[in-house]
Amino acid sequence: MCGSTPGEPGGGEPAFRATLEEGWGARVTEAMGIGDIGVSLWGECEEQDGMHLGARDFVHAELLDAESGSARPLGDGGSGELVLTHLRHRAAPLLRFRTRDHVEVRTAPCPCGRTSPRIRCVGRTDDMLIVRGVNVFPTAVREVVAAFAPRVSGRIVVAPEQPGVMQDPPLPVRVELADGALPDAELAEAIRARLREVLVVTTRVELARWGSLERSEYKSTLLDRKGR
Ligand SMILES: [Zn+2]
Repeated sequence: MCGSTPGEPGGGEPAFRATLEEGWGARVTEAMGIGDIGVSLWGECEEQDGMHLGARDFVHAELLDAESGSARPLGDGGSGELVLTHLRHRAAPLLRFRTRDHVEVRTAPCPCGRTSPRIRCVGRTDDMLIVRGVNVFPTAVREVVAAFAPRVSGRIVVAPEQPGVMQDPPLPVRVELADGALPDAELAEAIRARLREVLVVTTRVELARWGSLERSEYKSTLLDRKGR
């Protein structure tokens, strides 16, 4: 059995994917499209190592720096905002449509034999924060925290204290505990240290009781500016 997780970066996060695969007894692959350009443009092969561009020759993909708007090379290890252009659309073609998705690119040969570039969506450029010069995506924070399961539920909220993109450390992160778990200073410190190690960001980790962070049936809200 195969499952596909379009529409949200979670499907590409190893811990979240493992939970889905275990729960459903299925192999989970990720797919991605965007309504304005095409509903299914990228899809993972059996190697599960990023989504191949299946719409090559129909759509042209580019990368750019979301802050400056300047072009970035779409080469192996490259990253930036994904920009797409229709190549064959006859009605209302879009030119250099900014998807607001921040992606990482792999172009090294894939064992499946497909030669198109592969991408993994890291997060939304709208959600990106910059803490002391380091780009921080709430989805990347969620991925790091998810590795602390089963002690945590996997839900997090990043709650920036300053308006806009630039933030001073420490960045407040609310982490929801697993059902029945009680706040534990040692766990909070371990999460803080791991976030610092993996994402090079200083955070203030607040543990929240199970069920206290908002649920969503569609796209999860990982950024909370209400508390400011
Ligand atoms: Zn492949």
